[in-house]
Amino acid sequence: MIVVPAIAEMRDAIARARATGARVGFVPTMGALHDGHLSLVRRARTDAQVVVMSIFVNPLQFGPAEDLSRYPRPVAKDDGLARDAGVDFLFRPGTAEMYSEDRAITVSGGDLASRWEGEVRPGHFEGVLTVVAKLFNIVQPDFAVFGQKDLQQSALVKAMVRDLDMPLEIVLAPIVREHDGLAISSRNRYLAAADRNRAILLHESLAAAKVAFDGGERNARALETIGRQVLESDGVLHADYFAIVNSATFEPVETVAWGAAAIVAARIGTTRLIDNMSFGDDEG
Ligand code: AMP
Repeated sequence: MIVVPAIAEMRDAIARARATGARVGFVPTMGALHDGHLSLVRRARTDAQVVVMSIFVNPLQFGPAEDLSRYPRPVAKDDGLARDAGVDFLFRPGTAEMYSEDRAITVSGGDLASRWEGEVRPGHFEGVLTVVAKLFNIVQPDFAVFGQKDLQQSALVKAMVRDLDMPLEIVLAPIVREHDGLAISSRNRYLAAADRNRAILLHESLAAAKVAFDGGERNARALETIGRQVLESDGVLHADYFAIVNSATFEPVETVAWGAAAIVAARIGTTRLIDNMSFGDDEG
């Protein structure tokens, strides 16, 4: 594995790989790698001769009150995990390499970026889309793999690729969970023991809605009520939102059909967790 800190160097490496006819797969991350990230690398490996991972803690997507400075950056550990998972090039630029002082352009996600996560975290998705567009232009992959864990983010990236005619494919990979169902996240490490136990309520609330859906319930409001009751059953946790949405537009649906997803976000102590589950396929 070659660690690449500079944009020009990354472009040269990709040009050389392409000259051999290699198909390039790309996995963008913010590091603090865990099994969720590594599953994306494995997915990329199945369909690419060259796999590029980026690790960049993108300041543009953190709000002023968010955890940019305390976001974990275990450099040596990440190197080992990425290498063992089969990453060929690890693109790890510094902030100055990515953002010049005179930069003027950002990518906006419109309505899709202003709902749910976008409403709670103003400017977040603009930061995500801007950095992802830059990374796509730098790495120029044939395809990029994103986790269903951040479903609204992947819907926005797909919409950006479609609307801006970016020449790559977006692949969505299933959520990797802990043994008890908690979706693996770099932020789980911030949870105190009692909160860690409580955190499984996110997955349990989604699973309860899915059980009702599988049992024939198609009314979205009824499914939301079921999910919210489970989420708030210990009297401590409160949902930022629990909703059934169209997983492409993220608009709420009335009647649940194939392509809908339950999405949930809750704050536990100072940590904010999100999760989701699709209806109509086996992912979950
Ligand atoms: P992050 O480093 O948090 O920006 O995440 C980088 C990528 O890993 C995104 O595409 C996430 O959706 C994906 N990801 C994070 N956690 C998981 C998980 N538990 N399962 C699958 N993918 C994940």
